Amino acid sequence: MENRHNVRVLLLDDDPFMNKLHFSMLMQMGFTSLSSTNSGQQALASMDRTTDMPHLIFLDLKMPHMDGIEFIRKLVERDFKGALILVSGEDERVLKTVTKLAKSQDIDVVGHLQKPITPKTLEALLCTWSPVERKERRKADRRKYVADELRSGINCGELINYYQPKVAVATGEVVGVEALVRWLHPDDGMIYPDQFIGIAEEHGLIDDLTFAVLKQALFQACVWRDEGLGLKVAINVSMDNLVALDFPDIVAELAAKAGIAPKDILLEVTESKLMRNPGVAMDILARLRLKRFVLSIDDFGLGHSSMAQLRDIPFDQLKVDKSFVHNAHADPTALAIYRASQTMATELGMEFVAEGVEDLEDWNLVRHTNCDIAQGYFIARPMPAADYPAWLQNWQQRLNHNFENDPETQ
Ligand code: C2E
Ligand code: CA
Ligand code: CA
Repeated sequence: MENRHNVRVLLLDDDPFMNKLHFSMLMQMGFTSLSSTNSGQQALASMDRTTDMPHLIFLDLKMPHMDGIEFIRKLVERDFKGALILVSGEDERVLKTVTKLAKSQDIDVVGHLQKPITPKTLEALLCTWSPVERKERRKADRRKYVADELRSGINCGELINYYQPKVAVATGEVVGVEALVRWLHPDDGMIYPDQFIGIAEEHGLIDDLTFAVLKQALFQACVWRDEGLGLKVAINVSMDNLVALDFPDIVAELAAKAGIAPKDILLEVTESKLMRNPGVAMDILARLRLKRFVLSIDDFGLGHSSMAQLRDIPFDQLKVDKSFVHNAHADPTALAIYRASQTMATELGMEFVAEGVEDLEDWNLVRHTNCDIAQGYFIARPMPAADYPAWLQNWQQRLNHNFENDPETQ
C-alpha cells in the first residue's frame, strides 16, 4: 500500500473506547491522518464541510440514532469514493449482508471485522487494500462501450484469450485451461469481460464473440498438442448462444476443422442464465452432449433453478461458484453450500470443480474435501498463452516443495 501518512481514515463508532482502541492500533501501523467521531450525523456534517473526504472509514454497524446501514445510504447520496471497513459485534452473516448491500450501491468495502479487532486481523485486511488502485479501476469502470465499438473490436481481432489453468487436486497435474476473453482496446488498454459480455448479449454480437474465442482456443489447443501438452480447453458459453438450433453443428464443425476431439473441449454454461429459454437450450445442450462435448454448469449455487437444471440437462461437471470456495474454511454458510454442491455432484456422477482457490487455506480445503479439480489465483492467474510454459515449470517446483516458502503463501 502507498504511504500510510497520506491516507485519511475516519473512525465511526458510538463507543468512544472502541474509537480510542482502533485509533491507537492504526497509529502503530503508520496511519497518522486519523479522525474519529461517535455519531453518523457528526461524521456527515464534517464531510459536508470539506473536499478532503476520508479515503477509508471504519464503520460500526450498530449505533443509536443513525445505524451503519443508514450511514451507508447517506454515503451513496454523497457519491462517496472512498472505502469502508465494517466493524461489528454482529454475526458474520449480518456483516456479509451489509457488505453486499454497500457493494451493490458501488461503495467499496475492503472487508469486515468482528469485534474485538486484533492488530493481526486488521493488518491482514489493510494489506489487501490500495486506495489508488480503486480510483483507477473506477475510472476505467465508468467508460461505457457502444455496440459498434465492440463489433469493430471483434472484427479487428482485438479480443484475445487469456488462459487459466485447472489442476487435478489429488496430483496437482494440469488437466486443462479455461479461456477467459479480454478486449485489448487500442485506447483504453485491457478491458475485462464484465464490461462487454452484456453488450454483446444485448446487441446480437455474442455468437461472433463466442466463435472468435472458440477459434482462438482451438488454434491454441493445436499448438499445445503439437508441443506434447495435452490440455483440454474450456470456453464460456452464454445462454444467448443457446438459442440458435445450429449452434452445436457450428461448434462441431469448427472443432473437426481444427482436429480437436469434442471430448477435449469443455463448454461452461452459467446456470443463472439457463432459465430464459429452457426448451431450446435443453435441445442444444443435449445435442452438444451427444456429440461428446463436455458440459460444465458454471457459477453453481448463484442462480435460482440449479436443481432443475441438474435434473434436466446432462452436465458432466459442476463448477461451484468462487463465493463458496474462497475463505469457506472460515465461513460456515459458504462451507455448507460448498459441501452440499459437492455431495450433489458426487451423487449425480459429475466431476466437482472449485474455482476461486485464492490462497493456501482454500487449497487445503479442496485437498481435504475430495474436490476433483481446482482453479484460482493460488494456482495461477489467467495468462496469455505464451506465459504458460514458464508458469508450468514454476507450478511443478511449487508442488515439489509442497508450497513451502511459497511466494503465494507469504
Ligand atoms: P467465470 O466463468 O466464473 O470465470 C472466472 C472469473 O473469476 C474470471 O474473471 C477469472 O479471472 C476470475 N478468477 C479466477 N481465479 C480467481 C480467484 O482465485 N479469485 C477470484 N476472486 N477470481 C478469480 P474474468 O476473466 O474477469 O471473467 C469474468 C466472467 O466473464 C467469467 O466468469 C465469465 O462468466 C465471463 N466470460 C469470460 N470470458 C467469456 C467468454 O469468452 N464468453 C462469455 N460468454 N463469457 C465470458
Ligand atoms: Ca467459467
Ligand atoms: Ca464464477
